[in-house]
Amino acid sequence: MNCWKCGTETEEKSFTLVSNWKGYKVSIEGVKAEVCPKCGEKTYAADDIKLIHALSEGIKENNKQSDLPEILNLYEVAQILKVTNQTVYNMIRGGKLPAKKVGKKWVFLKSEIENIIKPSCQTIGMSAGSDGISGFSVEEKVMIDDYLKSK
Ligand SMILES: [Zn+2]
Repeated sequence: MNCWKCGTETEEKSFTLVSNWKGYKVSIEGVKAEVCPKCGEKTYAADDIKLIHALSEGIKENNKQSDLPEILNLYEVAQILKVTNQTVYNMIRGGKLPAKKVGKKWVFLKSEIENIIKPSCQTIGMSAGSDGISGFSVEEKVMIDDYLKSK
């Protein structure tokens, strides 16, 4: 092929592509490009561009997963579950919420809270106060019901 800039016949060359990403140095070896001997312009193959793009996306994904788990406080958990702080306390005491006490405060892993609400979130939202709520004591059901009514 010819260089799109100056029209000189290009040569295929193999590169190690190095890019900086969030303080990391990412190098991809064996990336092929058509290089112009005159002006040095590089033209990458479409497949290689796709590959580089996919790799950089993959790195982003992995980085997200290796982030520290998200921690919620009691107030945030109450908001997510749409119950009062007191109900959250009761649920911790009843062993229904996985929580850890750090100093004087309760902390929760967001993923664990999500796991709790996933199977029954529809039920809670749709028929609070009825027999539709599972996994809660009668006392808790009344509390959730009262909370929803007060809205
Ligand atoms: Zn050129």
